[in-house]
Amino acid sequence: MKNIKDYSLDELKEELKAIGEKPFRAEQIFKWLYQEKVISFEEMTNLSLTLREKLVQNYTMDNFGILQKQESSDGTIKYLFDLLDGNAIETVLMSYHHGYSICVSSQVGCKMGCKFCASTGINFIRNLSSGEIVEQILAVEQDAGVTISNVVFMGIGEPLDNYDHVVKAIRLINHPKGLNIGARHISISTSGLVPKIEDLAKENIQCTLSISLHATTNEKRSEMMPVNTRYPIEELLEACRNYTKLTHRRISFEYALAKDKNDNLEDAKRLVNLLKGMLCHVNLIPINPIEKGTFKKASNENIIRFRDYLNDHGIVATIRRELGSDIDAACGQLRRKNLT
Ligand code: SAH
Repeated sequence: MKNIKDYSLDELKEELKAIGEKPFRAEQIFKWLYQEKVISFEEMTNLSLTLREKLVQNYTMDNFGILQKQESSDGTIKYLFDLLDGNAIETVLMSYHHGYSICVSSQVGCKMGCKFCASTGINFIRNLSSGEIVEQILAVEQDAGVTISNVVFMGIGEPLDNYDHVVKAIRLINHPKGLNIGARHISISTSGLVPKIEDLAKENIQCTLSISLHATTNEKRSEMMPVNTRYPIEELLEACRNYTKLTHRRISFEYALAKDKNDNLEDAKRLVNLLKGMLCHVNLIPINPIEKGTFKKASNENIIRFRDYLNDHGIVATIRRELGSDIDAACGQLRRKNLT
């Protein structure tokens, strides 16, 4: 069955036309789905009974079941959602003073193979559909009784490796008749798929682009992130400069600090040289240990020294607050499913 949340408003109008319905019905359905946020076709009471029946017969709403829910002492909640085909994905809800943020997954598994990330210890199974991406937001809002104001594509998967569905999901999340979350409140994080960064720059979406940089030499980066052998640092940064030129958006560079790997002042110095003159911000992440990981968290002292060096040399850097690490919900700790 087709997932009704996989359709853009225009596509849904076409679908309805094809079954002899007026296109404005699509607007009504959209309103029920993304503003009223109902969970069944039966609740769409301004549609005729016949149309509701047709919808039930032809479409699913793809409401996710919750396989597991863990709550951190800091209020972060990690969900393990049951997909219709038996796969499972994780989604994280975080509460900040300015509202609720959600970290969504974009794929079941991941192909990128970053050495420090738990999502990699599992094989790639498939891409999520745009509806499955959006459903993570709806399912979390429904369960937690909150309204989400920020969406980050930093869960399981490489979002730019599932480009079409991710862009479609972003448009739906952003659409005034969809979830109506401002593009500036949507962040997409990538390990650095250069051609896709170039494509994204042309989409005319004002979302924030985060780049997982993590190292300052190609040798070190390739060791940590195999994707670097395909798209080395210079090419990646060139794509970032072009992205800024086209979108005028500031890029956020993520740099996970691992003890004795990338946390000394030489690294900080090289990072300053690489990013000099760019419209950017550096987000330092104390690396989160994962099972079998060879990466250890840098000391607080080194993390602060690293940050201060960047700030003193003209690169704005902040240390990311760690949320949910006690329930393995922090960066790099998400997995496809709970392997016991
Ligand atoms: N695949 C995308 C998005 C998912 S990861 C990407 O690579 O950007 C979100 C962020 O967490 C990335 O910057 C990623 O490199 C980082 N990360 C992965 N494992 C981590 C770990 N063990 N500790 C801290 N950050 C980690």
